[in-house]
Amino acid sequence: MISSRRTSTLLRLFARYLAPRRGWVVLMIFIMICNAGAQLALPSLIASFIDGAAARLPAGVMGGIALTFLVVALVSQVTAALGKYLATDLGMRATNALRSDVLSHVLAQDIGWHNATTPGALIERIDGDASRLNTFLSNMLPNLLVNSLLLAGTLGALFWIDWRAGALGVAYLPTAWLVVRVIRPHSTRLFNHEREQSARLFGFIEEHLAGTEDVRANGAVDHVMRRFFTASRPWAAAMARAQIVGSLSWLSPAMLYSFVLAAMLALGVWLIGAGAITLGSLVALYRYTFLLSQPLNDIGRQVMELFEASASAARLDELLAQTPALSENGTRTLPSGALALNVEHVSFAYADAQNNVLRDISLGLTPRRVLGLLGRTGSGKTTLTRLIARLYDVSAGEIRLNGQNIAGVAAANLRQRVTVVTQEVQVFSASARDNITLFDKDIDDARIWSALDRVGLRGWAEALPRGLETELAAGGSGLSAGQAQLLAFARAFLRDPGLVILDEASSRLDPATELQLERAIDALLQGRTAIVIAHRLKTVQRASDILVLEDGAIAEYGERAALAADPSSRYYALLNFGAEEVLA
Ligand code: ATP
Ligand code: MG
Repeated sequence: MISSRRTSTLLRLFARYLAPRRGWVVLMIFIMICNAGAQLALPSLIASFIDGAAARLPAGVMGGIALTFLVVALVSQVTAALGKYLATDLGMRATNALRSDVLSHVLAQDIGWHNATTPGALIERIDGDASRLNTFLSNMLPNLLVNSLLLAGTLGALFWIDWRAGALGVAYLPTAWLVVRVIRPHSTRLFNHEREQSARLFGFIEEHLAGTEDVRANGAVDHVMRRFFTASRPWAAAMARAQIVGSLSWLSPAMLYSFVLAAMLALGVWLIGAGAITLGSLVALYRYTFLLSQPLNDIGRQVMELFEASASAARLDELLAQTPALSENGTRTLPSGALALNVEHVSFAYADAQNNVLRDISLGLTPRRVLGLLGRTGSGKTTLTRLIARLYDVSAGEIRLNGQNIAGVAAANLRQRVTVVTQEVQVFSASARDNITLFDKDIDDARIWSALDRVGLRGWAEALPRGLETELAAGGSGLSAGQAQLLAFARAFLRDPGLVILDEASSRLDPATELQLERAIDALLQGRTAIVIAHRLKTVQRASDILVLEDGAIAEYGERAALAADPSSRYYALLNFGAEEVLA
């Protein structure tokens, strides 16, 4: 029973997120009970009114019945509104807590997992699935409660009027249940399929929106549109199937209701003829049959919602059970100041690949030394820096900072002590201040301005219309490539790392920006250990050591001065014959 396992996952999630609001849940249940009671009382009040009129009861008594009817009707309206409000409030609070848990869980996953998961699919999980649970919680929980009370109460009332009416009502239930039951398992599967298809489509859209510039520039718009249509088609088909089968599961009870109502009225007329019930009771029978059908219809629809919500809960639960491949339980901290780095016999393969991208790499850097890392494109330079920053764990070997294996260092401390400045600088749609401090509110203005001074961005920041509070556009459209690099340097300054890893952009910059960048690099490397992946000779020249990677293995490693003087070295060839492909 897959669906019942899913449903229990759903209940478990609800129990966890509703527990902090136990008192409100109890209050909501109480209000719902009042609501069901009021709804059940109304038909019998109508019956007494009709029968009272027929028996010509005094006006005072009739007025009393009418007034009671008004009050009970009012109670039923007010409790319905109040219950709905409470349910919506509870639903929102519970699912918001769930949403933020899922988001922080997702953010804690490692890079390998994120590479394998499209952002669109994650958005569908964090927002889509959580919203579905919310709808379900705000509608289903109160409705299910009221409906079960109404069902039980109505059956009781039917029996109280006449046992034959009660028997007809009882016969109605299992028939309606069977109709839903037959279609139900089928419908869950279809809804699951539909959600998967839509997640896939959103993933596709996200990916291509992010690459809009590339797509346009390469004239690939038609191609992308065609792919879009082929990706949407299965979704449309899946949705149609799910909706048709799903809606059948609540249409059928409605048809059944018409039959039962006709039968009930016929029975009522016959019972009046036989003198078993009054005219008022006949009207009550009519109202109670309606009260019986309403919950059945709703339950049919709620079953549909239950399927969707259970499927969402199962997917969220699976996501929450996903643990990062990198253990984040290191506890040691690294001292301040420049760090010593030792890489020993490190090999590494990406999770989905067979081949080692890095093979038996060993190197050592004493504090404040700078390593220039060279190698053709794809030789593994960036990969090596990812291992040192522990975005991935090594497959073999060991990486140590100041003698401590980085796997044993607390993640937050490692991120602060080792800073990677990559070719891709993420500019957030937030104020310039938040972009520089990366949302760290503890950093004061003096430190921000000093960092901007060091990287040469003071002029840029002063020219902003609202200074540091100016909103920057996401994607960095307001910043040039050089400025974005400098922004990344400013961020690095504020963290004051002991090891800086610089993965230099290969794009050519104009001479003025290049000069500015050079100065910023000098300032950033001052008093720090560093690894510089350089695409320009000038950048490499500040290195104390040079390491040339080839196909993931060390092709050359030594002091820069010694290599520069050795005519047989690759570095010598690079310097003297401009063999730029080494840097490419
Ligand atoms: P470039 O100079 O172009 O930046 P690089 O030396 O930095 O190249 P890496 O990015 O380290 O090269 O890539 C080394 C190898 O690892 C390449 O063959 C690449 O295809 C592969 N690779 C890189 N990133 C991943 C990844 N996330 N998953 C799987 N394979 C990857
Ligand atoms: Mg690279």
